[in-house]
Amino acid sequence: MKCDVLTLFPDILTAYLNESILKRAREKELLDVTLYNIRDYASGVHRQVDDAPYGGGAGMVFKPEPVFKAMDALKEDGEPRRTVLLSPQGKPFSQTMAEDYAAESRRLVFICGRYEGIDERVKTLVDEEVSIGDYVITGGELAALIIIDAAARLLPGVVGDERSIEDESFSWGLLDYPHYTRPREFRGLSVPEVLTSGNHKEIQLWRRRQALKKTMEVRPDLITEDELSDLDKKLLNEIKSASLKDS
Ligand code: SAM
Repeated sequence: MKCDVLTLFPDILTAYLNESILKRAREKELLDVTLYNIRDYASGVHRQVDDAPYGGGAGMVFKPEPVFKAMDALKEDGEPRRTVLLSPQGKPFSQTMAEDYAAESRRLVFICGRYEGIDERVKTLVDEEVSIGDYVITGGELAALIIIDAAARLLPGVVGDERSIEDESFSWGLLDYPHYTRPREFRGLSVPEVLTSGNHKEIQLWRRRQALKKTMEVRPDLITEDELSDLDKKLLNEIKSASLKDS
Protein backbone atom coordinates (compact mmCIF):
# COMPACT_ATOMS: atom_id res chain seq x y z
CA MET A 1 0.00 0.00 0.00
CA LYS A 2 1.44 3.35 -1.03
CA CYS A 3 0.30 6.62 0.52
CA ASP A 4 1.05 10.33 0.27
CA VAL A 5 -0.12 12.53 3.13
CA LEU A 6 -0.49 16.28 2.70
CA THR A 7 -0.36 17.96 6.08
CA LEU A 8 0.81 21.03 7.96
CA PHE A 9 2.13 18.81 10.77
CA PRO A 10 4.14 15.88 9.36
CA ASP A 11 5.74 15.20 12.77
CA ILE A 12 2.38 14.05 14.14
CA LEU A 13 2.37 11.26 11.59
CA THR A 14 6.09 10.49 11.82
CA ALA A 15 5.79 9.70 15.53
CA TYR A 16 3.08 7.09 14.99
CA LEU A 17 4.47 5.62 11.77
CA ASN A 18 7.83 5.02 13.43
CA GLU A 19 6.50 2.66 16.10
CA SER A 20 5.34 -0.94 16.34
CA ILE A 21 3.47 -2.68 13.51
CA LEU A 22 3.43 0.24 11.06
CA LYS A 23 7.17 0.76 11.53
CA ARG A 24 7.81 -2.90 10.70
CA ALA A 25 5.40 -2.75 7.73
CA ARG A 26 7.41 0.17 6.33
CA GLU A 27 10.72 -1.59 6.96
CA LYS A 28 9.40 -4.65 5.10
CA GLU A 29 8.28 -2.31 2.28
CA LEU A 30 4.68 -3.46 2.61
CA LEU A 31 3.66 0.10 3.45
CA ASP A 32 5.11 3.23 1.90
CA VAL A 33 4.04 6.59 3.36
CA THR A 34 5.48 9.84 2.00
CA LEU A 35 4.72 12.99 3.97
CA TYR A 36 4.40 16.41 2.32
CA ASN A 37 4.34 19.61 4.33
CA ILE A 38 1.71 21.80 2.67
CA ARG A 39 3.46 24.90 4.03
CA ASP A 40 6.34 24.19 1.62
CA TYR A 41 3.94 24.99 -1.21
CA ALA A 42 2.67 28.28 0.26
CA SER A 43 3.89 31.58 -1.16
CA GLY A 44 5.08 34.83 0.44
CA VAL A 45 7.66 35.40 3.14
CA HIS A 46 5.31 34.13 5.83
CA ARG A 47 4.13 31.14 3.81
CA GLN A 48 0.63 31.79 5.04
CA VAL A 49 -1.76 28.88 4.62
CA ASP A 50 -4.93 30.30 6.19
CA ASP A 51 -7.11 33.32 5.62
CA ALA A 52 -10.36 34.88 6.86
CA PRO A 53 -13.62 33.35 5.59
CA TYR A 54 -15.57 35.09 2.84
CA GLY A 55 -18.94 36.04 4.26
CA GLY A 56 -17.50 36.54 7.75
CA GLY A 57 -17.75 34.27 10.75
CA ALA A 58 -15.43 32.67 13.26
CA GLY A 59 -11.99 31.18 12.59
CA MET A 60 -9.80 30.89 9.54
CA VAL A 61 -10.03 28.84 6.36
CA PHE A 62 -7.27 26.68 4.85
CA LYS A 63 -6.26 28.44 1.61
CA PRO A 64 -6.64 26.51 -1.66
CA GLU A 65 -3.39 27.56 -3.43
CA PRO A 66 -0.84 25.57 -1.37
CA VAL A 67 -2.98 22.42 -1.58
CA PHE A 68 -3.40 22.77 -5.36
CA LYS A 69 0.35 23.38 -5.74
CA ALA A 70 1.21 20.35 -3.58
CA MET A 71 -1.12 18.19 -5.69
CA ASP A 72 0.47 19.55 -8.91
CA ALA A 73 3.89 18.55 -7.54
CA LEU A 74 2.67 15.03 -6.69
CA LYS A 75 1.24 14.54 -10.18
CA GLU A 76 4.61 15.17 -11.79
CA ASP A 77 5.71 11.54 -11.42
CA GLY A 78 2.65 10.45 -13.46
CA GLU A 79 1.69 7.69 -11.01
CA PRO A 80 -2.05 6.95 -10.74
CA ARG A 81 -3.54 8.21 -7.48
CA ARG A 82 -6.77 8.07 -5.51
CA THR A 83 -7.28 11.18 -3.39
CA VAL A 84 -9.10 11.30 -0.08
CA LEU A 85 -10.03 14.47 1.80
CA LEU A 86 -10.39 13.96 5.55
CA SER A 87 -13.53 15.76 6.65
CA PRO A 88 -16.32 15.39 9.22
CA GLN A 89 -18.70 15.86 6.28
CA GLY A 90 -17.37 12.78 4.50
CA LYS A 91 -18.60 9.23 4.16
CA PRO A 92 -18.17 7.42 7.50
CA PHE A 93 -15.05 5.24 7.52
CA SER A 94 -15.64 1.51 8.03
CA GLN A 95 -13.85 -1.84 8.00
CA THR A 96 -15.19 -2.40 4.46
CA MET A 97 -13.50 0.83 3.34
CA ALA A 98 -10.28 -0.24 5.08
CA GLU A 99 -10.39 -3.47 3.02
CA ASP A 100 -10.94 -1.44 -0.13
CA TYR A 101 -7.95 0.84 0.59
CA ALA A 102 -5.75 -2.15 1.45
CA ALA A 103 -6.55 -3.62 -1.99
CA GLU A 104 -5.94 -0.31 -3.83
CA SER A 105 -3.12 -0.45 -6.37
CA ARG A 106 -3.01 3.31 -6.93
CA ARG A 107 -1.17 5.60 -4.49
CA LEU A 108 -3.58 6.88 -1.86
CA VAL A 109 -3.36 10.62 -1.19
CA PHE A 110 -4.73 11.90 2.12
CA ILE A 111 -5.33 15.65 2.47
CA CYS A 112 -5.44 16.76 6.11
CA GLY A 113 -7.52 19.85 6.81
CA ARG A 114 -7.09 22.30 9.70
CA TYR A 115 -8.78 25.47 10.99
CA GLU A 116 -12.52 25.80 10.20
CA GLY A 117 -11.86 23.52 7.26
CA ILE A 118 -10.35 23.67 3.81
CA ASP A 119 -11.48 25.97 0.97
CA GLU A 120 -14.37 24.18 -0.77
CA ARG A 121 -12.59 24.32 -4.15
CA VAL A 122 -10.07 21.72 -2.95
CA LYS A 123 -12.90 19.20 -3.29
CA THR A 124 -12.51 19.39 -7.08
CA LEU A 125 -9.15 17.60 -6.59
CA VAL A 126 -10.42 14.66 -4.61
CA ASP A 127 -12.10 11.34 -5.36
CA GLU A 128 -13.81 11.06 -1.99
CA GLU A 129 -14.37 12.77 1.36
CA VAL A 130 -14.03 10.50 4.39
CA SER A 131 -14.97 11.03 8.04
CA ILE A 132 -13.69 8.94 10.95
CA GLY A 133 -16.88 9.54 12.96
CA ASP A 134 -19.55 11.93 14.05
CA TYR A 135 -17.35 14.29 16.03
CA VAL A 136 -14.94 17.09 15.18
CA ILE A 137 -11.19 16.89 15.84
CA THR A 138 -8.60 19.61 15.33
CA GLY A 139 -7.03 18.36 12.12
CA GLY A 140 -7.02 15.55 9.57
CA GLU A 141 -3.73 13.99 10.75
CA LEU A 142 -5.26 11.59 13.29
CA ALA A 143 -7.97 10.70 10.79
CA ALA A 144 -5.34 9.86 8.13
CA LEU A 145 -3.42 7.74 10.63
CA ILE A 146 -6.53 5.84 11.63
CA ILE A 147 -7.32 5.02 8.02
CA ILE A 148 -3.73 4.07 7.13
CA ASP A 149 -3.45 1.90 10.26
CA ALA A 150 -6.78 0.12 9.71
CA ALA A 151 -5.93 -0.61 6.05
CA ALA A 152 -2.23 -1.49 6.52
CA ARG A 153 -2.90 -4.16 9.16
CA LEU A 154 -4.99 -6.00 6.54
CA LEU A 155 -2.03 -6.31 4.15
CA PRO A 156 -0.58 -9.83 4.05
CA GLY A 157 2.55 -10.01 6.23
CA VAL A 158 1.87 -6.90 8.33
CA VAL A 159 0.27 -8.53 11.38
CA GLY A 160 2.29 -11.51 12.66
CA ASP A 161 -0.53 -14.07 12.83
CA GLU A 162 -3.12 -13.41 10.14
CA ARG A 163 -5.78 -15.38 12.01
CA SER A 164 -5.94 -12.46 14.45
CA ILE A 165 -7.39 -10.29 11.67
CA GLU A 166 -9.91 -12.84 10.47
CA ASP A 167 -12.08 -12.89 13.59
CA GLU A 168 -11.64 -9.32 14.77
CA SER A 169 -14.57 -7.00 15.40
CA PHE A 170 -16.44 -6.08 12.18
CA SER A 171 -14.45 -8.51 9.98
CA TRP A 172 -16.91 -11.30 10.77
CA GLY A 173 -19.99 -9.09 11.14
CA LEU A 174 -19.93 -9.13 14.96
CA LEU A 175 -17.88 -7.50 17.71
CA ASP A 176 -14.96 -9.51 19.05
CA TYR A 177 -15.29 -12.05 21.89
CA PRO A 178 -13.46 -11.48 25.26
CA HIS A 179 -9.77 -12.32 25.51
CA TYR A 180 -7.86 -13.62 28.56
CA THR A 181 -4.22 -14.48 29.28
CA ARG A 182 -2.16 -15.62 32.30
CA PRO A 183 -2.57 -15.57 35.27
CA ARG A 184 -5.63 -17.79 35.56
CA GLU A 185 -6.65 -16.07 38.82
CA PHE A 186 -6.04 -12.35 39.25
CA ARG A 187 -7.28 -10.31 42.21
CA GLY A 188 -10.18 -12.70 42.68
CA LEU A 189 -11.11 -12.63 38.98
CA SER A 190 -10.94 -15.98 37.18
CA VAL A 191 -10.61 -16.91 33.54
CA PRO A 192 -13.81 -18.64 32.29
CA GLU A 193 -13.29 -22.37 32.78
CA VAL A 194 -14.15 -23.33 29.22
CA LEU A 195 -11.04 -21.50 27.94
CA THR A 196 -8.74 -23.75 29.95
CA SER A 197 -10.68 -26.96 29.16
CA GLY A 198 -8.79 -27.77 25.97
CA ASN A 199 -12.15 -28.50 24.30
CA HIS A 200 -11.85 -26.51 21.09
CA LYS A 201 -15.42 -27.07 19.98
CA GLU A 202 -16.75 -25.72 23.29
CA ILE A 203 -14.32 -22.80 23.15
CA GLN A 204 -15.52 -21.86 19.65
CA LEU A 205 -19.14 -22.05 20.82
CA TRP A 206 -18.45 -19.95 23.92
CA ARG A 207 -16.66 -17.31 21.83
CA ARG A 208 -19.48 -17.13 19.30
CA ARG A 209 -22.04 -16.80 22.09
CA GLN A 210 -20.02 -14.03 23.77
CA ALA A 211 -19.58 -12.15 20.48
CA LEU A 212 -23.31 -12.35 19.78
CA LYS A 213 -24.13 -11.23 23.34
CA LYS A 214 -21.76 -8.23 23.21
CA THR A 215 -22.97 -7.20 19.75
CA MET A 216 -26.61 -7.52 20.80
CA GLU A 217 -25.97 -5.36 23.86
CA VAL A 218 -23.98 -2.52 22.31
CA ARG A 219 -24.35 -2.71 18.52
CA PRO A 220 -27.62 -4.47 17.66
CA ASP A 221 -27.52 -2.64 14.31
CA LEU A 222 -24.67 -4.98 13.22
CA ILE A 223 -26.83 -8.09 13.56
CA THR A 224 -28.58 -8.89 10.29
CA GLU A 225 -31.09 -11.70 10.55
CA ASP A 226 -30.28 -13.02 7.00
CA GLU A 227 -26.59 -13.42 7.80
CA LEU A 228 -27.14 -15.45 10.97
CA SER A 229 -26.64 -19.20 10.85
CA ASP A 230 -29.16 -21.54 12.51
CA LEU A 231 -26.67 -21.94 15.36
CA ASP A 232 -26.41 -18.13 15.79
CA LYS A 233 -30.21 -17.88 15.95
CA LYS A 234 -30.32 -20.60 18.60
CA LEU A 235 -27.56 -18.90 20.62
CA LEU A 236 -29.31 -15.52 20.34
CA ASN A 237 -32.57 -17.01 21.59
CA GLU A 238 -30.72 -18.53 24.55
CA ILE A 239 -29.05 -15.16 25.31
CA LYS A 240 -32.40 -13.35 25.11
CA SER A 241 -34.18 -15.80 27.40
CA ALA A 242 -31.28 -15.70 29.90
CA SER A 243 -31.44 -11.90 30.03
CA LEU A 244 -35.24 -12.00 30.47
CA LYS A 245 -34.77 -14.36 33.43
CA ASP A 246 -32.17 -12.00 34.95
CA SER A 247 -34.38 -8.92 34.63
N1 SAM B 1 -15.71 23.27 10.54
C1 SAM B 1 -15.59 21.88 10.23
C2 SAM B 1 -16.94 21.22 10.44
O1 SAM B 1 -17.69 21.63 11.32
O2 SAM B 1 -17.24 20.26 9.72
C3 SAM B 1 -14.57 21.19 11.14
C4 SAM B 1 -13.14 21.53 10.81
S1 SAM B 1 -11.99 20.64 11.79
C5 SAM B 1 -11.77 21.68 13.15
C6 SAM B 1 -10.48 20.80 10.91
C7 SAM B 1 -10.09 19.59 10.07
O3 SAM B 1 -9.98 18.44 10.89
C8 SAM B 1 -11.06 19.19 8.98
O4 SAM B 1 -10.88 19.98 7.82
C9 SAM B 1 -10.69 17.75 8.74
O5 SAM B 1 -9.59 17.61 7.88
C10 SAM B 1 -10.28 17.28 10.12
N2 SAM B 1 -11.37 16.56 10.81
C11 SAM B 1 -12.05 16.96 11.90
N3 SAM B 1 -12.96 16.07 12.28
C12 SAM B 1 -12.85 15.03 11.42
C13 SAM B 1 -13.53 13.80 11.26
N4 SAM B 1 -14.51 13.43 12.07
N5 SAM B 1 -13.15 12.99 10.25
C14 SAM B 1 -12.16 13.33 9.41
N6 SAM B 1 -11.48 14.50 9.49
C15 SAM B 1 -11.82 15.34 10.48
